[in-house]
Amino acid sequence: MSGIPDLAAIEAMDATDPLRAMRDRFILPEGVIYLDGNSLGAASHAVFGELQQAATQEWAQGLIRAWNTAGWFEMPIELGDQLGRLIGAGAGQTVVCDTTSTNIYKVLHAALEMRPGRLAIVAEGDSFPTDLYVAEGVASTRDGVLLRLAGVDAPTIEELIDESVAVVLVNHVNYKSGELRDMAALTRKAHAAGALVVWDLCHTAGALPVELDHANADFAIGCTYKYLNGGPGAPAFIYAARRHHGEISQPLSGWWGHARPFAFEQGYVAGTGIRRFLCGTQPVLSMRALKGALAIWNDVDMAALRKKSVALTELFIQLVEAKCGAYGLTLETTRDATSRGSQVSFLHDHGYQIMRALIERGVIGDFRAPSTIRFGFTPLYVGYKDVWLAVEVLEDILRTGAWKDQRFAAKEAVT
Ligand SMILES: *Cc1c(COP(=O)(O)O)cnc(C)c1O
Repeated sequence: MSGIPDLAAIEAMDATDPLRAMRDRFILPEGVIYLDGNSLGAASHAVFGELQQAATQEWAQGLIRAWNTAGWFEMPIELGDQLGRLIGAGAGQTVVCDTTSTNIYKVLHAALEMRPGRLAIVAEGDSFPTDLYVAEGVASTRDGVLLRLAGVDAPTIEELIDESVAVVLVNHVNYKSGELRDMAALTRKAHAAGALVVWDLCHTAGALPVELDHANADFAIGCTYKYLNGGPGAPAFIYAARRHHGEISQPLSGWWGHARPFAFEQGYVAGTGIRRFLCGTQPVLSMRALKGALAIWNDVDMAALRKKSVALTELFIQLVEAKCGAYGLTLETTRDATSRGSQVSFLHDHGYQIMRALIERGVIGDFRAPSTIRFGFTPLYVGYKDVWLAVEVLEDILRTGAWKDQRFAAKEAVT
């Protein structure tokens, strides 16, 4: 097994890791190796501090006054700007609101309105399902609009882009394979055909640096409970390039997006700028949790984050292939680190049982039907030794056949 680092070498990598201290900001259970931050990020001391303050002081003591005195009203915009810095978005172009699914609905309608006469929405057949479900829903409300899918209607998304396309809804990092797309190139291609692009950044935000403004992106959406660690069900975000702000209209025209929400006027008049994507009252406690989670990123160098992410995923692939090569795992993620997000996926016919066995042994990843076992590497709190230990457990489960136990066979509601 030449070329495979030993435990001493791996411990040395942790000792010189510039992000190592970040780990202490998070709360992780004893004995757990957490490789599922791509599904639900870990809790942090900063989040609990914000929740405590928001609940016991601002809500309990301030009551309705806190909307003004504790800055609750402006949170969607302020947190949007803070998040925007992590995705290469200049101020005033990002808001935190609603869910990713809801935001896809709003943004697709907005894009279709901006390209009247064009009837196609293009997406990836292997997209995260909610993106496609929502696109279907949008199409169902608009005469003649149809959804065209890469892998179904043509082999690649590029081949579907022509003058009939209003909007391309595309994942920057594929949730299952971890494949990373070239944002600037695809955006250029869509713009050349007169189409708009909505980038889904669910597996990008907090996982790797991205430059929305630089890539000339039109819109982006994404969630904050994965690599950004905002907490279960934390509110999502929308980015819209400033050049589009005057043209944005979307059908969830609630009072929070109104030009004068507290004038209580009868008719809807859209507010200015990115506020147009707001709908109703924000979940303040969830927003405050996110505020704590985002504060951590003030001390993170995104280039160092990406460097560590690549090193973690490379090490995991290398160790799994060296130690578990005999047991029928097939690498689903690309070997090319430059086109890989911060996750590694393997295919196995019994992936579900293997993942259940791993979780029982404290190595938490997840399973995506039909046969993907998925491991997310959050550089803020996963270390190199965690990778080593996770592969030791995986090898043991595969070699002994421990995963074959009956108790791992029945599917749970959330996988
Ligand atoms: C996680 C994820 C979502 C989640 O959408 P919700 O509305 O938060 O449930 C959507 N799209 C992608 C690509 C995701 O990875």
